[in-house]
Amino acid sequence: MIKFLDLKKINEKYRAHISCAIEEVLDSGWYLLGNKNKDFSEKFSEFCGTKYFVGVANGLDAINLIIKAYGFGAGDEIIVPANTYIASILAISENGCKPVLVEPNIITYNIDADLIEEKITEKTKAILVVHLYGQAVQMEKIWRLAKKYDLKIIEDCAQAHGAIYQERRVGNLGDAGAFSFYPGKNLGALGDAGGITTNDFELYKNVKILANYGSEIKYHNIYKGINSRLDELQAAILNVKLPFLDEENEYRRTIAEFYLGNIKNSLITLPVCCDRLSHVWHVFAIRVASREKFINYLKENKVETLIHYPIPPHKQGAYREWEKLQFPVTEKIHLEEVSLPISPVMNMADVEKVVSLINAYQG
Ligand SMILES: *Cc1c(COP(=O)(O)O)cnc(C)c1O
Repeated sequence: MIKFLDLKKINEKYRAHISCAIEEVLDSGWYLLGNKNKDFSEKFSEFCGTKYFVGVANGLDAINLIIKAYGFGAGDEIIVPANTYIASILAISENGCKPVLVEPNIITYNIDADLIEEKITEKTKAILVVHLYGQAVQMEKIWRLAKKYDLKIIEDCAQAHGAIYQERRVGNLGDAGAFSFYPGKNLGALGDAGGITTNDFELYKNVKILANYGSEIKYHNIYKGINSRLDELQAAILNVKLPFLDEENEYRRTIAEFYLGNIKNSLITLPVCCDRLSHVWHVFAIRVASREKFINYLKENKVETLIHYPIPPHKQGAYREWEKLQFPVTEKIHLEEVSLPISPVMNMADVEKVVSLINAYQG
């Protein structure tokens, strides 16, 4: 069986160092907001090129806390791509803001910058860009719009750790970046974890306070905060893995480039990479018109695939109020998308096998 993602194998490489790091935390007697957290904060902000980093409990909280720290709430609107993972949208509604959905570009699957301006109103406070599938959003037009209308740019970097756009890493392309270190992400912990990057000291300070019960000094609660901290254990594990992120992303590029160069089948639409370093291939997303048949064919030939994602947010039960909205590009992507196996531990013989199977597929 060619697995979609072999998490055990991914972490196996780091077993000795992870075990050591866990023992260090155990021995320290300090399990939250200690040295491992401090260490990871310094290293990850340095990696992204930002002044600050705050570790939080998960990626959803990271987006939620950025919106909260900016003070956006009821009556405010935030622009977001219609085809994102539901978390980006949940974080907006959780704060009482209105998510304003914008169609993606069918080539890059990222938000279509040409459709943003018509959605901007007096209530618009921010543009939440999502670097979907690992490809950095083309930011030029979005930077211009944000400046023109005085909007914040929030980046959802949960799928794009390490991607570079115009010589800057994601997380350093807007006002604040939200990361998830969920086990299956390009930089994954052994459980839930997340974090926020920013160059804005005010935001940094407020996010830190809000994530810690709204308290800067113990038992003095100046805001109605939440409890969302990055565990020492997870920080220790992330410290072990971060130095290898670029190398792992580069290996993903090798696989992606092999797929791109060798899959030749008119029934398949391949993804388009705008610039080599701007993509870290969290997901290798192809499109196939009759998806079920194709997925079953690969399954019968012992290749696992996934769908990112089967149901668009505006068709979810949670957003029944959007039932009548139509986003044809988003809906097309959700109907046709299939994710091929890709990971830092997938061997090239398996990649070749997947390619041969796909090339032999006749629909
Ligand atoms: C994974 C993911 C999140 C949420 O991260 P969690 O750590 O699971 O809360 C948010 N946005 C996108 C695009 C994601 O892929």
